[in-house]
Amino acid sequence: MHRHMSLLRDLQALDHYIDRLRAEVAGLDDGERVRVAIERSRQRLEQIKARYQEIHATATDQELRLQAFDERVRQMEADLYSGRISNPRELQLLQHEIEQAKQAREEMDAEMLRIWEQMETMKQDIDKAERDLEHAERLYQAHVEDYRQRKAVLESEIEFHMRERAELAAQIDSEPLARYEQLRERLGGTAVAVVEQNACSVCHTLLTPYTLKRLQNEDALIACESCGRLLYDPMLAE
Ligand SMILES: [Zn+2]
Repeated sequence: MHRHMSLLRDLQALDHYIDRLRAEVAGLDDGERVRVAIERSRQRLEQIKARYQEIHATATDQELRLQAFDERVRQMEADLYSGRISNPRELQLLQHEIEQAKQAREEMDAEMLRIWEQMETMKQDIDKAERDLEHAERLYQAHVEDYRQRKAVLESEIEFHMRERAELAAQIDSEPLARYEQLRERLGGTAVAVVEQNACSVCHTLLTPYTLKRLQNEDALIACESCGRLLYDPMLAE
């Protein structure tokens, strides 16, 4: 077994630990989904508010038209009782016109009432949506704050162990280190296997007597014949 296999085994343990920390960072929820949902709600709310403004403007116009209408009816009534019109036919027509106007006015009132009621409901919906949005925004901010803190803690831990790793790697000859890095890259992060009851601890293949003998006698990198990982035998380590 290569004299640096113990160091490679330690490096492997450290790399596994760093890999786990990195996976944890990658698995942290940064709140992006919630942020997108909040943004969509905000856009919907803006649309409802714009619609409300439109209706409000229309209703205001309508109120002005009603005032003008009322003014005309008042004028007609003033004419009717002014005594200025003496022709009975003309008076009758005017009276009829006033009656029709008053009926139309009742319908307009009912319509106006319906619009104001609709607006009141919309206003309540908008208020509620705004409160919900504020609440969601506060939750999101708290989540992001929490996310940032967790991420910072994990990243500083990774940094610490990366320094430790560099110190360890510096003690290993370049050739076994390069082989280790290649295998780790190729074999999903695990380059070192431990000999357990004459078998490879990763792929569980029983090792041949020839491999075990080489492992015992040679200062060389000996790999599992099946998975190709570098073999470390704790029994052989000093
Ligand atoms: Zn193996």
